[in-house]
Amino acid sequence: MKKLLSLITMLAIGIAIGYVTHFMSGQTPLIYGQKWHVHDINRPQPKIVTPAPVDNFGAPPSDAIVLFDGTNLNNFENKDLELNDGAMIMAMGNQQTIDSFGDVQLHIEWLSPTPSENSGQNKGNSGVIFMGLYEVQVLNSYQSKTYPDGQAGAVYGVRPPMVNAMRPADQWQNYDIFFRAPRFNVEGSVDTPAHVTVVHNGVLVQFNQIYNGPSEWRKNGVYKPHADKLPLKFQWHNSPVKYRNIWIRPLDEYSNLDANSKR
Ligand code: MG
Repeated sequence: MKKLLSLITMLAIGIAIGYVTHFMSGQTPLIYGQKWHVHDINRPQPKIVTPAPVDNFGAPPSDAIVLFDGTNLNNFENKDLELNDGAMIMAMGNQQTIDSFGDVQLHIEWLSPTPSENSGQNKGNSGVIFMGLYEVQVLNSYQSKTYPDGQAGAVYGVRPPMVNAMRPADQWQNYDIFFRAPRFNVEGSVDTPAHVTVVHNGVLVQFNQIYNGPSEWRKNGVYKPHADKLPLKFQWHNSPVKYRNIWIRPLDEYSNLDANSKR
């Protein structure tokens, strides 16, 4: 019995030493698909970003590019559009950024023209079109019926929003959108399609939704290879929709932190 106890004690000590040696040596395994070990202290620390103040959560964080702060249209191609009371008003043509973007976080606020005699797709239609190809619908969908894959927050022609999170149309609407650009293989086929997550007025309405191709009216879009980055477009659809407080965070710097990782 005594022998057995000492054998168990020896075994326990051995296991403990094994564990301590293992952790002291830093020999944790590589994280699957990455060049870093589990809990690797040498891994780069995330950059420090100052978020919006607690009483103004829609304000841009410190690493955002402010595309529109209400004072000028310097970041856009079409400078003829009307600026009024801190808002950019859509009129006579699409609006697009001078700079190009791929993966992004985007914050925008929009307001439908009211009162409106129009209905369905003619009621305050615009759109946030990533890379000029992939649309998140902007539409007055407050107590106003249209085809569900074309209402506010829809991935146009693909997926209705999970819920209708519209405020009354005479109030500003917020979108926080997380867009991942499509990746193409060298020969031009799609490696991974474009993805989008949309938060409308604080409510998740699209979660990692796939685009089947560029957004199209009455048909399925078909992917064609394009640049990694393209301008962000705002759709003109015969309706003077207003936009304000537009800021964007390009995510490529962060996506590429791990050079050996699959993006
Ligand atoms: Mg539209």
